[in-house]
Amino acid sequence: MKTIGLIGGMSHESSAEYYRLVNQGMKERLGGHNNARSVMVTVCFDDIVRMQVEGRWDDAGQLLAQAAGQVQAAGADFVLLCTNTMHEVAGAIEEALRIPFIHIVDPTAEALKTAGITHVGLLGTRFTMERPFYIDRLRDKHGIQTVVPDAAGRDAVHALIYDELCHGTINENSRDAVLRVINQLVEQGAQGIILGCTELTLLVQRQHTSTPLFDTAGLHAVAAVELALAD
Ligand code: GLU
Repeated sequence: MKTIGLIGGMSHESSAEYYRLVNQGMKERLGGHNNARSVMVTVCFDDIVRMQVEGRWDDAGQLLAQAAGQVQAAGADFVLLCTNTMHEVAGAIEEALRIPFIHIVDPTAEALKTAGITHVGLLGTRFTMERPFYIDRLRDKHGIQTVVPDAAGRDAVHALIYDELCHGTINENSRDAVLRVINQLVEQGAQGIILGCTELTLLVQRQHTSTPLFDTAGLHAVAAVELALAD
């Protein structure tokens, strides 16, 4: 079994979910008391948020490249970054690594293709919904077209991620707001919805909507388990 490397802390609410998911996934695959071999380096989310707000993406890339180096030095065989947003600096992280980096868009796109989805709605932070790094990879690498909420919808989803979910707050009114945004995206042609923030799955799950949901944290974690078991 390979050792899964995790860069966490963005936020720790979803990093805990990753930790649970890779261990639970490995136990489901192997049974008994099997769990995943893993190492996680946790960065300070406050530093990251400040860099996001100030547009200091190069500094954030350096910080996360350093964390990736620590994960590699600790014995990981490959690395996951436990946030969608910070894949903005995936290039800086990959440059710092000799081992594979598993980009969160790729297992998500594979699940979409398996479901026959070519037009998808994307929910996440404003950075993920508005900057090109995510939508371009879906289109250019995987042939999937993306629709995002209108400005009011993007503001609402962005705010509830940072003000509530990253603090561990689950609010039913916020869930209803997200479900309304999902319905708007479906009206615009989305065949399914990417939960493109690793905390969104804490708020919205399959039982809340008939629209197919693609939980990036869960799909990323499953991909890690599969890779850890591959020859
Ligand atoms: N975990 C979130 C994501 O998947 C947002 C936190 C962050 O800014 O990294 O994008």
